Amino acid sequence: MTPEKVILSITIDTECDHSPSWARSNPLTFHSITQGIGSYLQPVFNQASAIPTYLLTVEVMENPACVATLQAIDGIHELGTHLHAAFIQPEKKYADYAGVECSEFQCFYPPDIERQKLQRLTQLFVEQFGYQPRSFRAGRFGAGNNTFRSLEALGYTVDCSVTPHLLWKEPRGQVDYRHALEQPYYPHDQNFLTQGEKRPLLEVPVSMKKRYMRGPQWFRPWFSSVSQMQKVVNYHLKHYAHQPLIVLNMMFHSMEVIPQASPYPQNQKEVHQFLDDLSDILHGCRQQGIEFCKACDIPRLYQKYNG
Ligand SMILES: [Zn+2]
Repeated sequence: MTPEKVILSITIDTECDHSPSWARSNPLTFHSITQGIGSYLQPVFNQASAIPTYLLTVEVMENPACVATLQAIDGIHELGTHLHAAFIQPEKKYADYAGVECSEFQCFYPPDIERQKLQRLTQLFVEQFGYQPRSFRAGRFGAGNNTFRSLEALGYTVDCSVTPHLLWKEPRGQVDYRHALEQPYYPHDQNFLTQGEKRPLLEVPVSMKKRYMRGPQWFRPWFSSVSQMQKVVNYHLKHYAHQPLIVLNMMFHSMEVIPQASPYPQNQKEVHQFLDDLSDILHGCRQQGIEFCKACDIPRLYQKYNG
């Protein structure tokens, strides 16, 4: 059997510039948004007819220049949200984000605190952009059962926090995606890592391919070469060929297109390599008949093809 449709979303954690060691920039800068999106990212997407979903953090939505840039993006795109929980009330830990390194998972806050943080993040988005966000990813992929309940109550329809085959740790605990599902599913209310009843919120995992001796291969520029990303695509096309709909979800950070604003590209040459690879894989996917879509369009298509 062959699938009736294959779709690809590109979900981008959109944050302040960081340092090569993943601390927030000091002084705090936002070149990845004010320059990166308009000059580098969106032109690559427009040229490939690809559709990015920018997932915005608190500090980005608090910054007027970033908000103005995001409101003026030239090309089809979606805006959603991304939470780093220590940077928003209640129990906000930092008034000044500059230089801060913070690895907390939102799922380890008490459910009521996590819910209020998500509520404030969502409210900030609505205040700045005038509509309800639909798509979300947890900072450091740290989602839990309560995350899903809160997102659903706040009107979200897509979460893309699940990174199959990976185990993430912070001092308070760990989030174990080693046996997570690789294709979209309705998260079970008691265990979001398993398929549950049909519900408004769909989980759209980041696309990965398992490797046995090393960590999984990401569908992500810089982490993977063009041929490695193509292998992730081929794996999903082959392994899920029996499904009527196959969904691919690429991820990366906005900061990866600014030299030394992340641990990844460190100079302009490496940024160009990143963008060339991104462009090559997107054009390659398009030539294979893969269609691009916003993350928020996936639930409707999932329902259409899966009944
Ligand atoms: Zn993040």
